[in-house]
Amino acid sequence: MDPTVEAARFVREQVRPNLDEWERDARYPRGAVRASGLTGLFAPAEYGGLDLSYPEGMAVFEELGRGDAALAFSMSMHNAVAAAVTRAGGDELRERWGARLVSGEALGGFSLTEPHAGSDATAITTRATQTAGGWRVTGHKAWVSLAGEADLFLVVAKTSEEPGHKDIAMLAVEREGGGVAFPTIYRKSCADFLPIGEMTLADAPATLLAPPGQGLRAALGAIDVARCDIAAIANGLHAEALEYALRYGRDRQVFGQRVIDHQGIQWSLADAETDLVAGRLLTRAAAERLGTPEGSVAVAHAKRFCPDAAFRAATTCSEVLGAYGWLHDHPLARFIDLAKMLQVVDGTTEIQRVVIVRDLLKRAEKL
Ligand SMILES: Cc1cc2nc3c(=O)[nH]c(=O)nc-3n(C[C@H](O)[C@H](O)[C@H](O)COP(=O)(O)OP(=O)(O)OC[C@H]3O[C@@H](n4cnc5c(N)ncnc54)[C@H](O)[C@@H]3O)c2cc1C
Repeated sequence: MDPTVEAARFVREQVRPNLDEWERDARYPRGAVRASGLTGLFAPAEYGGLDLSYPEGMAVFEELGRGDAALAFSMSMHNAVAAAVTRAGGDELRERWGARLVSGEALGGFSLTEPHAGSDATAITTRATQTAGGWRVTGHKAWVSLAGEADLFLVVAKTSEEPGHKDIAMLAVEREGGGVAFPTIYRKSCADFLPIGEMTLADAPATLLAPPGQGLRAALGAIDVARCDIAAIANGLHAEALEYALRYGRDRQVFGQRVIDHQGIQWSLADAETDLVAGRLLTRAAAERLGTPEGSVAVAHAKRFCPDAAFRAATTCSEVLGAYGWLHDHPLARFIDLAKMLQVVDGTTEIQRVVIVRDLLKRAEKL
């Protein structure tokens, strides 16, 4: 099986025909996601995973981004959890959850953000405590994707009163393990099928995945891969917006000419195409460097550039449709919304600049 071809087929046969219904019913398409065969992209073969390289994985995420960026994002997060559990989990966790996550029978969620702590992950206050019977977690998380829907959440928590990150751990918490609730599901501008909301943990039983001191590093390692996924998803959205506008502008006449024959429009489309070419190169370069010392900065460049470029392209392409760009009958308004989402998830554009500048400042010291 070629996973990129499978992703294109999934988009063609499942996402495009059913997206409106999923939105209307506000129902996460668990069955379709499970049947996609794309729920264990980076997991090892012994659990049924595809064990893809990062560049291969990014080709899959670009295809998924052509279908729907919110669904693609949820699959990115699930894949990060499946990879973390099968590669870094202890025997018990791997045994209990590895194959179920990889097959898509169970869904994975990731829970770092808190109501008062988004970009600054070291400000979290959720607390994990070791007891005689194992670990317990108490706290309040925000922006939990697949809230109430995922079966296993990787939760990032502090283990002491000390400020900073040296005591941060990452633990696996089962949705049905007791002490877990989802009191608020957010109302969003689109992607109603993807539940995102708050999660409370009250002495919830947990299994340690990364011990105190290694939790933030483990989380940031997973987030680096996720950031690269998001760049690839943005490229998919960007490519789809461009093709949609080209088709529409080819078939509509204004002032006796096709829309795409007007030079003002052509120059905007040319810029969108250059941005897409550049975004793909940045994403490819980042995927090739993931897991190396240059990985985080390379990923920051791609995550900084691609969602912004996709947002600009979606806006430009919507202009090609004139008033119709604003209608639900066409996907451009949704693309603008979703590109906005891609600018924020897994670390905002500004935070990518922070990562890049930190590296520049180190270089400045050596000049
Ligand atoms: C659709 C969606 C799904 C999400 N899913 C999850 C999930 O499943 N799990 C999870 O843990 N989180 C999730 N998040 C949360 C996401 O990771 C955070 O929203 C993000 O990290 C930003 O945090 P914040 O919104 O609290 O912004 P804040 O940290 O409050 O920042 C506010 C603004 O200030 C800017 N800013 C912050 N620091 C700096 C700085 N040093 N310099 C310049 N500007 C700065 C930010 O870029 C932002 O524009 C999700 C978010 C979205 C939108």
